[in-house]
Amino acid sequence: MSEPFLSIESVSASYGNISALHGVSLAVPRGEIVALLGANGAGKSTTLNVISGLVRPTRGTVRFDGEPIHRLAADHIVRQGIVQVPEGREIFRDMSVRENLEMGAYARKDRAAVARDLDSVCDLFPRLRERIAQKAATLSGGEQQMLATARAMMARPRMILMDEPSMGLAPLVVEQIFETVRTLNREQGITILLVEQNAKLALSVSSHAYILENGEVVLQGASADLRHDEAVRRAYLGG
Ligand code: ATP
Repeated sequence: MSEPFLSIESVSASYGNISALHGVSLAVPRGEIVALLGANGAGKSTTLNVISGLVRPTRGTVRFDGEPIHRLAADHIVRQGIVQVPEGREIFRDMSVRENLEMGAYARKDRAAVARDLDSVCDLFPRLRERIAQKAATLSGGEQQMLATARAMMARPRMILMDEPSMGLAPLVVEQIFETVRTLNREQGITILLVEQNAKLALSVSSHAYILENGEVVLQGASADLRHDEAVRRAYLGG
């Protein structure tokens, strides 16, 4: 097997004396969508935060494109090409849609290319073009998720970490968001690590999935196989 694009090896992490991850290992092949599933508090967000440099692992390594990144600062990791779309969106609510998108490109110097990318993310999300001058706080939940995803695209990422994009959104909007996840992956070749509570949907878009419980990987496999796994069906797919 060729070397994974991103790999986490035996990573442990804690918040003060609360241990959140114990020896988590996972691999994301280049160009694929990998899902990370698990109940509330299982350690999914912590795993993403370790990759993006927001939480320092106490043990283990994180490698991206062959290089160790677990000692790099978060802004350096963004420049390496890994961008996180955080849980709850965390858009800049008082800024316009355009300003939010421009913030996504803050680390880039190529202003002409930034302007072109702004145009192309608006092609991907026409709703954002219609609302380009509007304050982000006035967008619907689904539009805010689109904005957070589009803002991540403005950094020209090679990999996106998505934290529960479906949270709090109506089923139809969730379908649209997942359709864009597929498009980003297929048309732009972006590798995606997707954290989701909606296991059914996550297993339908990903090639491989890991299941976390209490800070440990308890199951992993091809998503198509996990969809039919009896234990997964009982615990995550509603029987
Ligand atoms: P959720 O779906 O609820 O976001 P999760 O799987 O993403 O859950 P994490 O947010 O990674 O889980 O949390 C893992 C563990 O670490 C939990 O026990 C949580 O209470 C704890 N934890 C997370 N963030 C902090 C923090 N900032 N300070 C203290 N403990 C934290």
